[in-house]
Amino acid sequence: MSEYLVDIQNERLSFFTPAGEVKSLNDVSLTVREGEVLGIVGESGSGKSVTAYSLMGLTAHPGRLIGGDLYFNGHHINVMTEREMRKMRGNEVSIIFQDPMTSLNPVYTVGNQIMEAILLHTDKNKKQAHERAKELLQLVGINEPEKRLKQYPHELSGGMRQRVMIAIALACEPKLLIADEPTTALDVTIQAQILELMTELKKKLGMAIILITHDLGVVAGMCDRIAVMYAGKVVETGTTDDIFYHPSHEYTKGLLQSVPNLNDQEHKKLVPIEGQPVDMLNPPAGCPFAPRCHSCMKICLKAMPEYTDLGNDHHSACWLLDKAKFEKEVQA
Ligand code: SF4
Repeated sequence: MSEYLVDIQNERLSFFTPAGEVKSLNDVSLTVREGEVLGIVGESGSGKSVTAYSLMGLTAHPGRLIGGDLYFNGHHINVMTEREMRKMRGNEVSIIFQDPMTSLNPVYTVGNQIMEAILLHTDKNKKQAHERAKELLQLVGINEPEKRLKQYPHELSGGMRQRVMIAIALACEPKLLIADEPTTALDVTIQAQILELMTELKKKLGMAIILITHDLGVVAGMCDRIAVMYAGKVVETGTTDDIFYHPSHEYTKGLLQSVPNLNDQEHKKLVPIEGQPVDMLNPPAGCPFAPRCHSCMKICLKAMPEYTDLGNDHHSACWLLDKAKFEKEVQA
């Protein structure tokens, strides 16, 4: 059995569309320890959400897992039946999405929706579920829970709706919470409150979190480790400090240069990553970032680099690291 709560090994997943095979995940490996917060960062289409959803057996048609092994909390996901998956979802792993308005049912009260999750995943009766729903609302920082339970989603603010979604996700006390761009649809001040709430809940409940985002600012304050994804590949993983202060992949460096940093000297120009994302129907043979990389070498176009172990659980797949290692060895 894996020592990790989540252990994804060499996952390959494709969508078989009329236009051809879209290789959405290409040899993705990731781990999450119990109680750890892993941020998965990358642009749209990089495979962040597909990776997390496949762990819950929620790959949308026409997607199919075509290689690798996925383990979660002692389960071998590849061989589980849909029934076993359903039991696992909601009991051991929960998810919150970007837009709470589309996730909540507009014709049921907040109370109905939280109680439904409790009744489905625990052996509580209706009265106990009502009490638990109130507790959960308090846990996520919603005042006057009795009143809120009777309200409909449209009567709540965006931030409050996301708190309700978190309450529903916590109904079964999951070991893992997957948060897919949980703050993208919210105002900046509300974003900060939701991130703070998630950090508090993680400390209180000890669950692990996979935080999926395109926003490096979101992962900075909250994550223990970060995986940077590009075109269906994890190109770099490391502790949050290593990714922010010692980035080693050219894409990670590009991402960091394209966002403002409060510690920078004044007037430092932001540098966008030029070029277009990879056409996943025809991905390049070598490093997927090669067409946009200023340091691209001949070998980058031909072959995908292996991961270089940079110590302290920091890994990066870039030929420049091999080159540096080779030059060091020649000089020695
Ligand atoms: S492997 Fe080559 S193309 Fe890819 S990031 Fe490194 S230098 Fe750039």
